[in-house]
Amino acid sequence: MDLGIAGKWALVCGASKGLGFGCAQALSREGVHVLIVARGAEALQAAKERLLADPQRPPAAQVESVAADITTPAGRAAVFALRREFDIIVTNAGGPPPGDFRAWDREAWIKALDANMLTPVELIRSAVDGMAARGFGRIVNITSSSVKAPIDVLGLSNGARSGLTGFVAGVARIPSLASAGVTINNLLPGVFDTDRIRSMAAAQSARTGEPPEAIVEARKKPVPARRLGDPAEFGAACAFLCSRHAGYITGQNILIDGGAYPGTH
Ligand code: NAP
Repeated sequence: MDLGIAGKWALVCGASKGLGFGCAQALSREGVHVLIVARGAEALQAAKERLLADPQRPPAAQVESVAADITTPAGRAAVFALRREFDIIVTNAGGPPPGDFRAWDREAWIKALDANMLTPVELIRSAVDGMAARGFGRIVNITSSSVKAPIDVLGLSNGARSGLTGFVAGVARIPSLASAGVTINNLLPGVFDTDRIRSMAAAQSARTGEPPEAIVEARKKPVPARRLGDPAEFGAACAFLCSRHAGYITGQNILIDGGAYPGTH
């Protein structure tokens, strides 16, 4: 299927690794020019080189990168200094740490809200009117299956992402945006095979003494698909949501979790 978005410009945040990289790669393979962002310059440069070396990337598809913290005004300014207008934005940053809610003070909450709610809100605010004026726009927020099924130790994530989910549900339905070809959706990952999952398993292993591989294996058991998700699968779903064909899908929360969430909605 030709997704009909070759030549568009996409900003993909948190894209040196994991789900963000999967999205950048899938878009790039569709001929979309991508600007990828992450804080660590070395991993970002490696990701850029991987995208440029990808034999499935049409040669015309450009790849740019900015090493910046997308959760800060300075980081966003660095991105917009390189390019102001995007047709597609994938919002993403690292998830907040797990823990006991009793230990989280105001500072911890503000940090989580900044990363997982207010940064996507800012990126949406900065982009949607321009997208509407040009008659096409796609925003995809990488959130979490925990929005539908909150996880007790991920209170910071549950709270911040629920705030974003509520905001998106409203803003996506503003008629002047929805009727002008601008869609805003959330993609909700279940358990995916990324560095984040591996480092969380390593941290748990350090606490409990259980081997990290056994911890990762245990994460597969409650998933009907009996495996971790592949970031490339996540990227493919993101690219479809960004496609011409998905123009009538907006304000949705789409789970990609191998069937793990047991409810009907
Ligand atoms: P990952 O493998 O750790 O990759 C995170 C990417 O985001 C890296 O490129 C990282 O690079 C970048 N990043 C982090 N903080 C950033 C910031 N402030 N500014 C710019 N870039 C930033 O994580 P992932 O597994 O792909 O997860 C992506 C998101 O999905 C996270 O919010 C996570 O909580 C959520 N999620 C993941 C899963 C899963 O199973 N993987 C499940 C549910 C939800 P730098 O560190 O160099 O900046």
